[in-house]
Amino acid sequence: MQILVINCGSSSIKADIIDTLTKKSIFELDAERINTSPEITINKNLVEYNGEINFKNILQFCFQKIKNDELSNSIVGIGHRVVHGGDVYQQPVLIDEHVEKIIEDLCSLAPLHNPANLAGIQEAKEIFPSLPNVAVFDTAFHQTIPNRAKYYAIDKAIADSLKIKRYGFHGTSHKYVAEKASNFLQTDLKNLRIISCHLGNGASVCAIEYGRSVETSMGFTPIEGLLMGSRSGDIDAGIIFHLAKKGNLSLEQIEELLNKKSGLTGLSGIGNDMRDIILQAENGNENCRLAIQVFTHRLTKYIGAYAAIMGGFDVLLFTGGIGENAVEIRNRVCQKMNFLGIDLDDDKNKTEKLSDEKEVINISDETSRIKILAIKTNEELAIALESEKIIQEKNKVNCVPKIPIAVSARHVHVTRETLDILFGKDYELTVFKNLSQPGQFAANEMVTIVGTKNKIENVRILGPIRPKNQLEISRTDEFFLGIDAPVRDSGNVAGTPGITLIGAKGTAILKEGVIQAWRHIHMHPTDAAIFGVQDKDIVNVDIDDDERPLTFKNVLIRVSDKFKLEMHIDTDEGNAAQIKSGEEGTLMLSEKAVSLIVKNV
Ligand code: ADP
Repeated sequence: MQILVINCGSSSIKADIIDTLTKKSIFELDAERINTSPEITINKNLVEYNGEINFKNILQFCFQKIKNDELSNSIVGIGHRVVHGGDVYQQPVLIDEHVEKIIEDLCSLAPLHNPANLAGIQEAKEIFPSLPNVAVFDTAFHQTIPNRAKYYAIDKAIADSLKIKRYGFHGTSHKYVAEKASNFLQTDLKNLRIISCHLGNGASVCAIEYGRSVETSMGFTPIEGLLMGSRSGDIDAGIIFHLAKKGNLSLEQIEELLNKKSGLTGLSGIGNDMRDIILQAENGNENCRLAIQVFTHRLTKYIGAYAAIMGGFDVLLFTGGIGENAVEIRNRVCQKMNFLGIDLDDDKNKTEKLSDEKEVINISDETSRIKILAIKTNEELAIALESEKIIQEKNKVNCVPKIPIAVSARHVHVTRETLDILFGKDYELTVFKNLSQPGQFAANEMVTIVGTKNKIENVRILGPIRPKNQLEISRTDEFFLGIDAPVRDSGNVAGTPGITLIGAKGTAILKEGVIQAWRHIHMHPTDAAIFGVQDKDIVNVDIDDDERPLTFKNVLIRVSDKFKLEMHIDTDEGNAAQIKSGEEGTLMLSEKAVSLIVKNV
């Protein structure tokens, strides 16, 4: 599949067409500084933009450029990075109006990001109206963090009303690299405790206990935690009051200071680029040395803390621009943690390099109890793969035909001979209502059925007449009548209990014929070919009900060119599943059968 991945930030737009088979980006659009002096490149070539400098115009321009490219014809869906999914989304989701509304409602929690993400979604819908859109949330992976790590110790009522808690970010990357580590080590994620250090311009650590995020250093906003390119990370909240009271800074100025002028930028005084800072530190720049020391000290502190909360761990992984490349930073962080079982192989740390061909490197010494890995993160690919899953799921739901369900009330089929006894010689049934199966009808004629305990009146005869008598009742009816009838397929009445039927003209005592109908699906051979099933196969059927979802197992397939697609269940089954005639079920097919259907459609 080819998926268009959109990452709309407040000042940049990034779009990639990712081929999920080769896992490569085959088209790349980058628009930087879009609010001031836009610089747009496509596949690294500069593109001229002469339009008005505003977000919407540039967004439109970029999307139109994508649409004009030949490759856009092969796109099957669009994956959007959405920063904040609040408490609502634990997984990526197919975008509809309801999802858009929630993303909009969450703008107050991510005022810089969610509005831009939403604008990207709306523009994508305009320009690619037939493509499905998927939202992949930065926060989703961290929804498993327990309350003890989620809550800030401030007045709970205030915190709850303002939705103040730890949400965490970088979730898509932490999840992606954790899965990479699990593949590399050939150990199920469920058996690993991982500390994942995503060290890019934004930086966060995540404790991943057996596949679930249980702690992360970014919190209510992405400012908390590690020292970052230009964000402060953890500070004493008292500093904010001090800045306001003694520094005379406004709220906006403090926000700007902590987000844009702090972290590596603030400490080093030379900008946010770790490469430059390392170089300058080597040349004796004290501020750059301090920036590195504070950066690594804080990272070490978090790793120690996360080791403690997980009661130990198995994998330490580094990712993001700094984590993937900065030998010195990895070295400094690992040096002090021998006591935890961390033993870095200095040579491998220096010489092993990540590349497109080598996305994971093991830099731990053979004796190291904890595996130390550097892993190339790829958030665009992660978003494309997550989106692909959702789109395939949607295709399945759309392509696999639904099966209408009919709830059969108790009824009786009679032979010529029995009808003679019940209604008189050569009596002909009259049509009360035609049934959905061709040629079948509910007759006006009804009988009373008499069991050993009770009788039931007004049981309808279904026409036309058949070669064998057959009374189809539910388990509840059986108890009421005092009969124990087996579950049988239609026509298979040998050895079943008998029953007495009373008609308008006489009483027929049947020696056999009472069954509970085996739940079954009538299919025309064309349907059977679509579903890839045959007469007498046994399948499972899902009832997609939000409140009481249910799977009917052991459903018999009956194929005949006289049949129309319909599943028949009895009243007990209908009641249990709260199904009324006319609702639908989904045949549960093997992955292979589904992919065949999807392909054929
Ligand atoms: P973003 O979070 O914006 O995606 P990246 O993950 O690309 O950022 O990380 C950018 C950071 O990685 C910068 O600080 C950059 O200096 C640093 N970096 C990249 N390569 C190296 C390197 N070889 N050595 C040290 N730092 C590096």
